[in-house]
Amino acid sequence: MVVYRRTGSDEIDSSAPTSTGHRGYGLGVEITLHLGDITQDAQADAIVNAANESLLGGGGVDGAIHRAAGPGLLEECRALGGCLTGEAKITGAHRLPVARIIHTVGPIWRGGGHGEPGLLDSCHRRSVQLAAEHGCARVSFPAISTGVFGYPVELAAPVAIRAVREAMVEHPSVVEVRFCLFEQPAYEAFAAALRTDTATERP
Ligand code: ADP
Repeated sequence: MVVYRRTGSDEIDSSAPTSTGHRGYGLGVEITLHLGDITQDAQADAIVNAANESLLGGGGVDGAIHRAAGPGLLEECRALGGCLTGEAKITGAHRLPVARIIHTVGPIWRGGGHGEPGLLDSCHRRSVQLAAEHGCARVSFPAISTGVFGYPVELAAPVAIRAVREAMVEHPSVVEVRFCLFEQPAYEAFAAALRTDTATERP
């Protein structure tokens, strides 16, 4: 896995995943990027699922998570009664090598004028909040809404990065957000957004 690590400057550091954390602005904010399958991420305490409102499984990352976690996950999800877009719910991780799975429902892209950025922002904030409430210090996210839901990844990445950065400041027990990107273009979009975010927000 390749890691870009947000640092206190606008430098992007490709240090190894095991290196000790750099901190952005002294606020304990660490955002790292990884290329790969989120179901294999054993460095996180929780992974986030890009679910749909039924919470009963689907394609893409949702299907991959259910396949890897095993049928017990679907059983647990059935009892949750679905989830609204922009909200998040938490379950056990079953066969995955983490403690928890946070299921959030991103918006379906309908051109950008239907509240999509606000809903995508909310997904990320609510997921970080749930992680904090359940003692998960490291949380791994996929590129929510950028697959079947059609949100252009170049537009989704800056929303995702800003939302998690601000949510981690609000919930300092969450010390790292990992973005586990499945495809190179998504990885590059998140790397560009991380550089821009760091440059813009530097005091
Ligand atoms: P959505 O319905 O929210 O768009 P998708 O699962 O269709 O969710 O896609 C979200 C992102 O997850 C896409 O960028 C897709 O390439 C990526 N993805 C698919 N499988 C995996 C996986 N196993 N690990 C990480 N990301 C994945």
